[in-house]
Amino acid sequence: MAPPTAHDGAPKPVSAPQRAMRKLGLVRDIDLALHLPLRYEDETALRTIGSLREGETGQAEGVVQECRVELRPRRQLVARLHDGTGELVLRFLHFYPSHQKALAAGRRVRVRGEVRGGFLGREIVHPAFKAVEPGEPLPAALTPVYPTSAQLPQAYLRKAIASALQRAPLHELLPAEVLPQGLPSLQQAVWLLHQPPASTPAAALEDRSHPAWQRLKFEELLAQQLAQAQSVSERARLRAPVLAPAQSPHSLHARLLATLPFALTPAQARVCREIDGDLARALPMHRLLQGDVGSGKTVVAALAAARAVDAGWQAALMAPTEILGEQHFRKLVQWLEPLGVGIAWLSGSRKGRTRAAQLEQVASGAAAIVVGTHAVIQADVAFARLGLAIVDEQHRFGVAQRLQLRAKLGSGEAPGGSDATEGAPYEPHLLMMSATPIPRTLAMTYYADLDVSTIDELPPGRSPVLTRLFADSRRAEVVARIGEEVARGRQVYWVCPLVEESEHLDLQNATATHAELSAALPGTMVGLLHGRMAGAEKAAVMSLFSGGQMAVLVATTVIEVGVDVPNASLMVIEHAERFGLAQLHQLRGRVGRGSAASVCVLLYTAPLSDTAKSRLKAMAETNDGFEIARRDLDIRGPGEFLGARQSGDALLRFADLQADGALLQHARQVAPWLLAQEPQAAAAHVARWLASRAEFLKA
Ligand code: ADP
Ligand code: MG
Repeated sequence: MAPPTAHDGAPKPVSAPQRAMRKLGLVRDIDLALHLPLRYEDETALRTIGSLREGETGQAEGVVQECRVELRPRRQLVARLHDGTGELVLRFLHFYPSHQKALAAGRRVRVRGEVRGGFLGREIVHPAFKAVEPGEPLPAALTPVYPTSAQLPQAYLRKAIASALQRAPLHELLPAEVLPQGLPSLQQAVWLLHQPPASTPAAALEDRSHPAWQRLKFEELLAQQLAQAQSVSERARLRAPVLAPAQSPHSLHARLLATLPFALTPAQARVCREIDGDLARALPMHRLLQGDVGSGKTVVAALAAARAVDAGWQAALMAPTEILGEQHFRKLVQWLEPLGVGIAWLSGSRKGRTRAAQLEQVASGAAAIVVGTHAVIQADVAFARLGLAIVDEQHRFGVAQRLQLRAKLGSGEAPGGSDATEGAPYEPHLLMMSATPIPRTLAMTYYADLDVSTIDELPPGRSPVLTRLFADSRRAEVVARIGEEVARGRQVYWVCPLVEESEHLDLQNATATHAELSAALPGTMVGLLHGRMAGAEKAAVMSLFSGGQMAVLVATTVIEVGVDVPNASLMVIEHAERFGLAQLHQLRGRVGRGSAASVCVLLYTAPLSDTAKSRLKAMAETNDGFEIARRDLDIRGPGEFLGARQSGDALLRFADLQADGALLQHARQVAPWLLAQEPQAAAAHVARWLASRAEFLKA
């Protein structure tokens, strides 16, 4: 946006508070109107000094009798206030000359704060105070206290909000039929929350159960449900190829199942049936496959891809990193090439002729399956007949990439010679996979237009990983333990943290650890893997490690997702306190993939923040990905949990999914009706509440 200009065209200077407001996203009148108080101060009533009791918060008014600086037990300002019913001591441990002036003897002041019993009688330490005239009227409304930042004084913000409230467009958009009983209009609700009359029950404001709060939460939840209902109905108009199961024992699907080195677990078999059901319909599938790390999602993806190939279509599998993509590629080649399937590999790092050759294979259909990073959705990639797109670790893709994928899939053009789509806009089936399960309440709101399949058991023969917390001071013990593990023929990961905003430091750290371990473990091959290495070099290191020649691998978080080396039985995570919970759980999932008992050591450096403590505690207490996800949600809240922060805005500002289940239910019920009966009101409501965020919801 261009900076505001004055009439003469010169840029208008922007004050510090204005800049601070912008930073908080308070730009339009409506933004200010929806910036609601954290709490309130009750300045609407006066108490006599004589009636103030210890422990209560109250407001009184009187005349200063005496005001002086005392030096013992430490320097402080002490004023004595009288109102004819008693004396109140005002004590300031930090003060400026301006305090002395304002509280000089003879001044009339109004003070507010918590009363305590002091050495000299009742007193308030650091009261709020202001000079008043005799008989000065009291405010009629509670005084709002807004969330703010250091550069934005409360008083400035109050004024700005009070003025914006006069102009903000808060007119009613919703018909009465959809509103829950007994709620005020939006306008009334917003005004009340900013300026509650003195009689408003404080508890209902505080716990947000007041009808005014309910109204705002409902507005927000309804907007979300509407946006999702819209995308469901948009999808319902699309056509996808029917990938009906081929009954022949010679189908690729049947042959893959027969040649796999293991039998599917019952959970894998169940999710395969759910996916098959979707693929056999002419509606684009929109399904999330969730399953804990190591639960075996890759083979489910391969079987779905085989369905597409059997029906004469192509399948694409996209992974968030090159390492993971390559691993998928190798696995699919191993499983499917012997069965005569052409598989292409597309990544950002392949340039020139190889890439051109791969693109040609994709475009001609010679490659029935295409594996790669987000290079798969680049503009120059044209599929002959894409029938199924699979996105692994979908939450790891940024919002922009997810939108790009949807744009690519939803190009609306049916491939040439296809009769499957009967003229309707065409879209391939979409399968998303994630090891970070979405708790149910979140799934209901954020992913309402998504079907979910869950693998809820691990393949047989795994032993649970034991997780131990070690202070950094015990590093030597941990290194000795690595030696023992290597002597037993096992392999070890050592993960170094990403130093935020400093890839350079990050690298230094990993390099130093690599040198340290090499010196401590003579005769052992210790490798190093980090994000700055070239693709080929990374692949070479990974292949030494997965081949077993390399016993110890020091890595930055590049190994985070999906790497599969069953012989690795020990993982050390350095500075574990710097990792997020989901990330720690993912990393830990790299061990415990074979039959050997495995250990994950979390090395931490004290002091730990409260959230770091709860993360590490959760890791030590449970191996269950769903439980981890639930705790992660508790610790971080839904906005951050979903990575919405990336998009600059948490999606739900007022509603709380745990507490507001009834409102959510109501919103879910009325959304389809509103869309059908009053589509314009529905669209206006979504625009008011979600604006640019509506697109994000679809991603
Ligand atoms: P994730 O769900 O984390 O992506 P993977 O697909 O990488 O898990 O599978 C983890 C490991 O388990 C792989 O080595 C895979 O071959 C193996 N695996 C998958 N399914 C089974 C099964 N039913 N029985 C035995 N091993 C399996
Ligand atoms: Mg995986």
